[in-house]
Amino acid sequence: MRASSLMAQKTRHSAKLDQLPVRIVGLLREIGVLGDQRGCHVYVVGGAVRDLLLGQMTLDLDLAVEGDGIAFARAVADRYRAGLVVFERFATARLVFPDGLKMDIATTRRESYAEPAFLPTVQRASIEEDLYRRDFTINAIAMHLNPGEFGRRLDVYGGRHDLRAGRIRVLHVGSFQDDPTRIFRAIRFEQRFRFHLESSTLRLLRQAASMNLIQQLSGPRLQNEILVLFAERDPVRAIARLAGLKLLRFLHGRLRYTADVKRVVLALPKALAWWGKQFPDVVIDRTSVYLMALSSASSPVVIAAIIKRLACSREQSRKLSAGGKQADRILKRLTDRGALRPSQVYRLLVDLPSEALVLLLAKQMSRQQATRLSLLRRYLMVYEKSRAVTTVLTGKNLQAMRLKPGPQYGIILGKLLDARIDGLITSEVEERAFVQEGLGAWSDCRAASRMLDKFLRTKTAKRPSSMVSREG
Ligand code: ATP
Repeated sequence: MRASSLMAQKTRHSAKLDQLPVRIVGLLREIGVLGDQRGCHVYVVGGAVRDLLLGQMTLDLDLAVEGDGIAFARAVADRYRAGLVVFERFATARLVFPDGLKMDIATTRRESYAEPAFLPTVQRASIEEDLYRRDFTINAIAMHLNPGEFGRRLDVYGGRHDLRAGRIRVLHVGSFQDDPTRIFRAIRFEQRFRFHLESSTLRLLRQAASMNLIQQLSGPRLQNEILVLFAERDPVRAIARLAGLKLLRFLHGRLRYTADVKRVVLALPKALAWWGKQFPDVVIDRTSVYLMALSSASSPVVIAAIIKRLACSREQSRKLSAGGKQADRILKRLTDRGALRPSQVYRLLVDLPSEALVLLLAKQMSRQQATRLSLLRRYLMVYEKSRAVTTVLTGKNLQAMRLKPGPQYGIILGKLLDARIDGLITSEVEERAFVQEGLGAWSDCRAASRMLDKFLRTKTAKRPSSMVSREG
């Protein structure tokens, strides 16, 4: 071959990889050289290749090595002083480079499933077999990294063709049965890229779903797929698709995508956008909010069962539990009555995770009641401001004021905080005066509490502006 056409071919091969940042292309070229030196073929595989072919940027690099992938990963980690974690059972290693770049390196392998839905056993195999064990053709394309072959595509199963046609296709008929998590993965990629499920893949998916193999998936495996699906940029369509394919029953048999629930889910992107703009520092776990919206009309029993099925962490459970009917009750109390004091808003919301507040907003947004919605928005702003308010006095100060420790401490400090939130007390001197007011009565909590309420009522009467009005 003439030098110029060899050069042209090399340029053609590497054209896709060259879309990556220069430092990463350089790194991949060096890794390819290391492959030659160690006598093994090295490939980029999976999602990175798919995204490159779609012209999308990716920094999530999976490498496959025909040979000892773990030994190869160790050599790479040594050379670049990268952190290394090895998963012997899956012949996989994860590297974290000093600049934060992450890379998975695995031995090419075949997988066999002793039982459907359980984890496979793995054996070393060729790159072609390794690609065959993958979920969909679009994720089963490799790009060679060794010098001379750098960037050359290995596409044995027609992945490129399916990418062009916008088609999700499994590699063999038993794919969903081997690993039912692929059912959720199929929907994830279909909705993310606005592709479609190829007709026999759709049939196989429905068939596998009807065999109830998903029930056999462990909680963490199901949770992982559901949560990454809900973490997609636009999970609304994915949720609708799950419902359309009757797959929500795998979370709970009584979970329904009713018109009301759908309206709340549809309102969530707007609610999240509003929240992100108003309170950029209060990070929201979007995945949990979507799950909360989906189960927002479910009973506590159903929600508890979903939590159990997904083996949720304590934190996730706390969030999900706050999303059911309780949210409706709080919303009603917030928007049904006349104006509330900031401290009343605070007390209504203080035990809720922020995700539940976003859900309240989405619920209200789904109802087309403009006045109530603007009131709720104002309450949420007041509440977020209140969260930063503290009292100067603490339990120690109360002790120094010769107050006997006991439950009254909680009452005094709580009422002090309310008064601070409502702007009725604005200094330490006033805080001390407030405590002194009830000093004689503190041995009787209820009497003291009544006395302080009276004290605050008098102050409120003098400062009616401390209410959050409907009109704003
Ligand atoms: P994303 O962009 O969502 O990260 P990805 O394709 O990179 O998508 P990963 O879960 O990181 O997804 O998986 C990397 C690759 O591993 C996939 O592209 C696919 O080739 C393979 N893979 C992952 N999970 C499975 C599975 N359950 N069955 C078969 N192959 C899988």
